[in-house]
Amino acid sequence: LLHFLNRSERTIREKTVDIIFPWFKKIWQQLLHYKQDHLVPSAILFSGPSGMGKLTLAKEFAKLILCKADSNRPCASCRSCVLFEANTHPDFYFIYPEEKNTAIKIDQIRELTDALAQTSSLGGYQVALISLAEEMNKSAANALLKTLEEPRGNVLIILISNQPSMVTATILSRCQHIKLPLANKNEASEWLNTKLGTQGLTFLRIADNLPLKALSYAEQGMLPLRDSMLFYLQAIREGTVDPIQAAADCLNHPLERLQFLMTLVLDIIRIKFSVNDHLNHCDQLMPLKELGCSVSFPKLFKFLEELVQAIEMVMKRSNANLQLLMEKIFIYWRYDNEVS
Ligand SMILES: [Zn+2]
Repeated sequence: LLHFLNRSERTIREKTVDIIFPWFKKIWQQLLHYKQDHLVPSAILFSGPSGMGKLTLAKEFAKLILCKADSNRPCASCRSCVLFEANTHPDFYFIYPEEKNTAIKIDQIRELTDALAQTSSLGGYQVALISLAEEMNKSAANALLKTLEEPRGNVLIILISNQPSMVTATILSRCQHIKLPLANKNEASEWLNTKLGTQGLTFLRIADNLPLKALSYAEQGMLPLRDSMLFYLQAIREGTVDPIQAAADCLNHPLERLQFLMTLVLDIIRIKFSVNDHLNHCDQLMPLKELGCSVSFPKLFKFLEELVQAIEMVMKRSNANLQLLMEKIFIYWRYDNEVS
């Protein structure tokens, strides 16, 4: 039994260590000082692109603040850590959109601020984590503002944001804003190689060097999706696949498909300019080079604009008709005569 306990304790420790990604080590030191020197701000906003590990860091920080032990990491064994791991910590509140593609609602924030007005159950901090800050609708943001304006000791509100420019300015001004650093390529590929082996670098590149995005691409099997988008670029241009049919085949994962189209087209442009060092899809150099020969620069740049617009529409979740949106993209790609 002792052997088993030792082993499981070790597993927990290893897991805990793993959670602080190498690219967040400096930030973690800073967060640690906040706790050790009793300088924890009342509200903190972590920002950076999706896929860098913000949520994992924010949860680990929340766990650290709630942990009863005095150590460099959440101890994983005190009552607070055990409750946190079991998702039953009475003083931790995790707020996110209740349904996919909806905003965080005022009722959710009201419930939170009511809870934060009470004292904590375990006698320490109360911590709220809001993901994502830009997904609070206006009334929800206003409801939170009152709590931010009158901070109470022992309450920490952590917000995370992919697009801090979309967060209400009044909220932003009340938070300590930490722009998280991007992983450098070596750190990220080393970390990914331990998870994905030799394929780590391929996924890192197709995921814009964002390690968590790369991992999720690998887990979701996104490489065939990327390959299919390259196939459509070739086949539609050659006229062997009908754009309308292609659009009908591309209705799942629209955002990822459009983003792949964009990075593929960016690579075609880079190759045409003979800038081959930073390709996202360097494993597909030859087909991209061939495609580049048949498409002019103005056409490629105009096509990029179309893609950016389409991506914005999908991200804003305006009820765009996906079939029409993809048709427009593919028809544009098929014919040259729209370019003036
Ligand atoms: Zn603990």
